Amino acid sequence: MTIDLTPDPFVADLAARTAEFVRTVVAPEEERVAGVATDGGEELRLRLQAAARDAGVFAPHVAKEYGGHGLDMRGRAVVFEEAGWSLLGPLALNIAAPDEGNMHLLEAVATEAQKERYLRPLAEGTVRSSFSMTEPAPGAGSDPAALSTTATPTSGGWLVNGRKWFITGADGAAYTICMARTSGEPGDRGGATMFLIDADVPGMRIVRHIDTLDEAFFAGHCEVEFDDVFVSEESVLGEVDKGFDYAQVRLAPARLTHCMRWLGIARHAQEIAVERARERELFGSRLGDLGMVQAMVADSEIDIAASRLLIWQACAELDEGRSAAQSSSIAKTFVAEAVGRVVDRSLQICGALGVSGDTLLSRYHREVRPFRIYDGPSETHRWAIAKRRLRQIAVPAVTTEKRTAHA
Ligand SMILES: Cc1cc2nc3c(=O)[nH]c(=O)nc-3n(C[C@H](O)[C@H](O)[C@H](O)COP(=O)(O)OP(=O)(O)OC[C@H]3O[C@@H](n4cnc5c(N)ncnc54)[C@H](O)[C@@H]3O)c2cc1C
Repeated sequence: MTIDLTPDPFVADLAARTAEFVRTVVAPEEERVAGVATDGGEELRLRLQAAARDAGVFAPHVAKEYGGHGLDMRGRAVVFEEAGWSLLGPLALNIAAPDEGNMHLLEAVATEAQKERYLRPLAEGTVRSSFSMTEPAPGAGSDPAALSTTATPTSGGWLVNGRKWFITGADGAAYTICMARTSGEPGDRGGATMFLIDADVPGMRIVRHIDTLDEAFFAGHCEVEFDDVFVSEESVLGEVDKGFDYAQVRLAPARLTHCMRWLGIARHAQEIAVERARERELFGSRLGDLGMVQAMVADSEIDIAASRLLIWQACAELDEGRSAAQSSSIAKTFVAEAVGRVVDRSLQICGALGVSGDTLLSRYHREVRPFRIYDGPSETHRWAIAKRRLRQIAVPAVTTEKRTAHA
């Protein structure tokens, strides 16, 4: 079996142009706003996206009919990693969460009319969106079966009631994709349905901005209330009661694209540390000549290389039409932790400089930590990985021989 890891020429060219664009156009803006794009507001988002369009690197993931480059998952892995080198790169290319995952879901599940109304403007970057799944305790979090937001049938549509939190980008989004229970009770899986809800409908309200460790996601994270929100039948995304299945359509690719983007940040952090290790002199030698620093640099190279291969393997399975449930869980768990280790080592190598705001390392440190929690905490993935493995029944060779002998 031969494994060819060379990206095709189109992907390689797009990745090279993305790297150039991110380093020359996006990185200075990242420095200016210290990694917090929200501080630059809509003006910065629109200006960066216009520049990405001019550079021919905008929306690499979306189908060509919606103005994108139509990359498959393997192609995305190569290009998104380059975009992720800067915290603002994904925003510039229109591949930041949650919009990127929502575009993927809408392409897969929405009707043609819904695609025109919701996907097209999102793909063009003229609007933003959010994804409303998680609820304050005792509602849905790691365990989606705890879903307690309800949608009950009413004349001509549905009434949605409930409260969500940690809804990234909700403030200023044109609409949200909201998961609500349409059958069963919290605690049993029952049925959930996804609804496309315009942000200006009566009864939907941003309760507050949540103060968080991370600040780089555009518009932050909000708590959102749904109080007798009326949604029409046309607002149902896919089929009623199939919401948990559609969540899987979004989640496996979305957790991988998070991995791709954060891998870019890990590489950037390692570059900052290596540059420092080359220049800084102490104890009569360069920092980079000291064995313990070399060990940290080497361990980070190993984490980066292993992360990339795990991402590519899961992407290959998705491109072949397989579920990639196990491989994407493995990749997500490993990459979320590996990226944290790389950024932490880079900060350590830089000493007090790493803690300061004079490099972006302290910002990166705060930004990568929550990735061990969203898109499934490491513990939830480990639990699922083990359960899948334990379900696999292997017949030991000795048993097979004994059976043959008795036959
Ligand atoms: C920065 C950020 C952005 C987010 N954006 C969004 C968004 O846009 N939309 C949205 O809907 N949600 C969003 N979330 C929410 C995210 O999806 C949830 O935080 C995640 O699903 C975990 O749920 P929870 O926080 O309720 O933790 P809980 O479910 O309360 O879990 C708490 C802890 O329990 C442990 N645990 C979980 N499962 C197991 C297990 N099987 N065995 C042992 N221990 C376990 C883990 O350590 C876990 O961290 C975001 C979260 C963060 C931090």
